[in-house]
Amino acid sequence: MDLSSYAELAVRLVNTDSLGHEGGDMLGTLDGLRALVADREHLNHGITRADLEALRQIREELRSFFVSCSQGSGAEAAARLNELLIQYPVHPQLSGHDGQPWHVHYTESGSVSDKYAAGAAMGLAVRLADLGMERFGVCQAAPCQGVFIDTSAARTRRYCSDRCTNRANVTAFRARKRGEEA
Ligand SMILES: [Zn+2]
Ligand SMILES: [Zn+2]
Repeated sequence: MDLSSYAELAVRLVNTDSLGHEGGDMLGTLDGLRALVADREHLNHGITRADLEALRQIREELRSFFVSCSQGSGAEAAARLNELLIQYPVHPQLSGHDGQPWHVHYTESGSVSDKYAAGAAMGLAVRLADLGMERFGVCQAAPCQGVFIDTSAARTRRYCSDRCTNRANVTAFRARKRGEEA
């Protein structure tokens, strides 16, 4: 798993309760959490209720990070992320499982929520250093509060998902139409 994939874990976690998400809060139940990590082999076993509670807290901290970035509060965003990096350190280990070439796993110890938080925080830190803070945003299709990392060449991403992009286009179209009729 590469570092951008760890950063995607952060986006995925924050968006579990965004209004753009279908079916309500994914962290409402243990089954929701299991679904969230089902495709991540290093996170999808040994899940407990304590993980659920810890991840709800971590979700709020990660959301604050994206909000700080989107407001251009660089020092604040960095401080928030540094706090998480201290609280949830990574534990890298070389691994050669399933006949794969030797590769590094970054979050090999602790509870599921510890591993999730460590991977998400480190992924974000590396991506931020790489891409710049202005690439981390909050969806502008109100009332959605979803977050995203803008990796578009044009650097013009404003919405968390295709769903929100479409919704915003429809809203803009209707507003234009109303303007023409008036
Ligand atoms: Zn592996
Ligand atoms: Zn959205």
